[in-house]
Formats: sequence, C-alpha cells, structure tokens
Amino acid sequence: MAQSIIDPSRLDRIEFSNDEIARYSRHLIMPEVTLEGQKRIKAASILCIGTGGLGSPIALYLAAAGIGRLGLVDGDTVDFSNLQRQILHGTKDVGRKKLNSARDSIREVNPNVQVDLYDTFFTAANARQIAEPYDVIIDGTDNFPTRYCSNDISVFLKKPNVYGSIFRFDGQCTVFAPHLGGPCYRCMFPEPPPPGMVPSCAEGGVLGVLPGVIGVLQAIEAIKLIVGIGESLIGRLLHFDALKLKFREFKLRRDPKCPVCSEHPTITELIDYEQFCGIPEAQAAEAQESLVPTITALQLKGKFDQGERFVLVDVREPYEYDICRIPGARLIPLGELPSRMSELDSADEIVLQCKSGMRSARALKLLQEAGFAKLWNVEGGILAWSDTVDSTVPKY
Ligand SMILES: [Zn+2]
Repeated sequence: MAQSIIDPSRLDRIEFSNDEIARYSRHLIMPEVTLEGQKRIKAASILCIGTGGLGSPIALYLAAAGIGRLGLVDGDTVDFSNLQRQILHGTKDVGRKKLNSARDSIREVNPNVQVDLYDTFFTAANARQIAEPYDVIIDGTDNFPTRYCSNDISVFLKKPNVYGSIFRFDGQCTVFAPHLGGPCYRCMFPEPPPPGMVPSCAEGGVLGVLPGVIGVLQAIEAIKLIVGIGESLIGRLLHFDALKLKFREFKLRRDPKCPVCSEHPTITELIDYEQFCGIPEAQAAEAQESLVPTITALQLKGKFDQGERFVLVDVREPYEYDICRIPGARLIPLGELPSRMSELDSADEIVLQCKSGMRSARALKLLQEAGFAKLWNVEGGILAWSDTVDSTVPKY
C-alpha cells in the first residue's frame, strides 16, 4: 500500500461535524479511506494553477471530496468562449474575475473548504511564495512558461506536481515527483519547443468535454497521494484519445542528467521562463511580421461607403467563413493562396483580412513576393470589424 504524503501528526486536530460525517459518508464506509483517510483529505492543501478547462473539474471535485484548503491561481476574466468547458464559470459570470466565480461555485459545492485566491499569473516572481504552503501542486495551465515554472518550483520544494494537458481530442496526465522516485517535466522535455510550434487550444480548438476527463484524472491522483492508496501515476504517462476512446500508457524515466532534478543540477533556482521559452523573441518576430501596409476596420468600411474599387480577400478557413464574414469578401484560405494567386489581378487594389490580422499579414507578404504592390492588411481582422463596424458579426 502506498504511503500518504500527509504527516500523521497533522491529523490530531482534525474533527468533523455531523453534517460533514453525512457529507463524506460514501468515503467513510470504504475500507481504503475510512475516517482516517477523510482526515487526511481535510488536513491536506492543494494548489491548483489555473481555473480554466482543467482547473474547473479539478477544483470542483476536490472541493466536493472535502479537501481542507484549496489555493487557486488565475489572473484572467471569464469570456463567452470559456463556457464550453470551464464549468466553474456560468453565463452570468462573463466579464467577472475567474477567481471570484470559482470561489462562488466552490462555496456552493462545499462551504467547509478554505479557498485561497491568488489574482495573478504564476511566474518566477511569485511561484515560491504561492506554492510553499501546499502539499500538492496541480498544473491546469496551457502555456510553456507556467509549465516549466510550476515543474521547477515543485522539484525545489519537493512537492508532487500533477500534470495534465489537452488539445483537440487528445489529453495526457502524469505525476511528476523526483523526491518520490519519479521523473520531472524536464526529464521528458529539457527544452521548450520553439514558440508557435505547438498550437494552443485557442488556436487549434479542444473538445469541451475532454478537460473533464483529464482534470478528473488529475484530481484522482491528488486524492490517492493524500489518502495513501493505490498505484500513483508517478513514472507513467497516461494518454487519452477521445475519438478512438483509448487510453495508452508510457513509462517515464528520470534523466540522470536532468537540469533540475538530477544529483548535479545546473538549475537550482527559478529562472525567467518567458525568456527561456523564447516568448520575447517570438513577440518581436510577430511585430516584424505585422509591419505591412495596414488599414483599420473603420477605414475598410469607409472604402466600401465611398464605392472604391478594390478586392477584399478573406484568407481564413471555410469553416471560419461559415461562422461569420464581411459582406463582399472572397474566400481564399492562406494555405491555398500560393496555388490560387492567378485568380487575383495585380492591377487591382487588394485588401486582405483574416480573424485577427496575423494570417492576412502573412498572405500580404506572399503576394508582395509575387510582385503584387497595391495591398492592405486589415488590422485586427474580422474581430476588429465586429468591435468597431458591425457588432452583429459574431466573434469566435
Ligand atoms: Zn528531472
């Protein structure tokens, strides 16, 4: 049987009201948990980084299970596009701080839980101070700087880091805990991928139900570590394919040369994770990319109003064009542009537009290289059109 990560001396002062005994009765009657295990759950504290897709089921189920103290870190506000999967937040919460709606939802589920709110993003500047008081760190974020930061601080503080990630129909999870014999995130990925190589859920989409599966698995692993039961995912990576409905498992090994968890680590304190993940360079490159002749959505409206002659080309995908479009726009997806350039006349003035202005800037460069000269990029794309010209155009 596994050992609980909760020191037995912490259980002496844990007591339950009759309401709590009733609330947790389905735990108490299992010989693997009993009153002793429920005391461990109540004595335990968990830090959940992020209150989004993964953080929602993690926080709700851990609160329902009776975790004594739950720390939540998030600096974001609730957006309509979150509601398809982030079940901590409801329609009435759009525009509110995620932490506030998360706190309200958790109180509704179980008012016995102490909820600590950190209205910020998890960075090298605050990670140690935030993480220090907690027994388990759960990473529910989706960006590389936070992932490396949460891994490193967990290694330094010798706390298990329950990892989960999701994209489209695929998810994975494991528990990183070098102090308990397993590898850390850096044993698998010593270096981050180049920025932009791995698309985010905001770019590639995600099945709304998927974080429910992965987040619940993360919550299960945290509870097992706390109660001290079963076989932990330490040293195993579980991969879930929702389309095939298949779970696969991969063995993970510690890297004896790991920069943070090996015997002779080269990194012994938190670093600048934005820099490490190449974010500043990527932003500079992006700024360079957007240095193309630009007009605003309002100026585009003005060109229509004055009856100017020009061709508006929408370089998004057909399924995006189906959601919303600017009247009169011709659809030529960016990927098809090189082979369909002959459909355009370089004598025409051409205005290019996409969702937010990035893809159309790339399209403009392609056309420039092919000898087109009268080109404009619509800054902010159709999102800006919706914001400043026609609010009946939906944003996605
Ligand atoms: Zn390592």
